[in-house]
Amino acid sequence: MRRALALAAAVLAGAPLAAAARPAPRVLLPDLVQRPPAKLVVLPLDEDDGTTHYLLAFSSRVENLGLGPLIVHGVRRSIATPTLTATQLVRVSGGATRTRNVPLQIRYVEEQTHRHFHVLHFETYELRNAAGALVLPDHKTGFCLTDDYRSRTRSAGKTAPQPVFTDQCARDEPDALSVTEGIAVGWGDLYLPILEGQSFDVTGLPEGRYTMVHRVNATRALAERSYANDVAATELTLSIPDGGGTPRLAVGRSCAAARCS
Ligand SMILES: [Zn+2]
Repeated sequence: MRRALALAAAVLAGAPLAAAARPAPRVLLPDLVQRPPAKLVVLPLDEDDGTTHYLLAFSSRVENLGLGPLIVHGVRRSIATPTLTATQLVRVSGGATRTRNVPLQIRYVEEQTHRHFHVLHFETYELRNAAGALVLPDHKTGFCLTDDYRSRTRSAGKTAPQPVFTDQCARDEPDALSVTEGIAVGWGDLYLPILEGQSFDVTGLPEGRYTMVHRVNATRALAERSYANDVAATELTLSIPDGGGTPRLAVGRSCAAARCS
């Protein structure tokens, strides 16, 4: 009886009935790791209408420390469709690849520094006040995933000896019908301050303590080994000088969580 129950449990859990001689293929999932916001700086931006805006600029970084690469593939039937349908390609031990449909969108973006295909909402940025309330959301048009630097942290899998995803997301090819982007094992995707979307407009914000929160894969659209390391934050204090002008910035602690204290 106990054996029958165990067998039923194994069947329910999807375990094979007979032990096969070959080991089951191992799914080599990526593991995206969000690094804390860095390189924070407040910059004045003079507008054409004579007003000055103050931008809190920052860099963002996501590393893949998983067993396999993150591969996002977008495809469309014709250029009449602006949005590409996205799939995630997951490597399996032995060399095979599995395809997962993912509810992410990929679009061509036409901007000064961009002119290529972006994965929308790969990362999200938030500025929260001391009470934890959302003060400013991000305004980024998406991400071109590439291998920008080698991570200093050991990966679960074998670090790719060379960058793999380097083609800049079909730059200057607005009529492309497909695009492949990703992050290889042991590599990181970096966005520097001042690039499109890498800032918050903090003009008129009250002085005080804030937390900048970066999240990767916030909707868990992409399959990965762990979702526990997908958020990171940096604390900061803004103070307004007497007589106004560029807010003063003091950068506090960074942590691998949505709140540092
Ligand atoms: Zn871009």
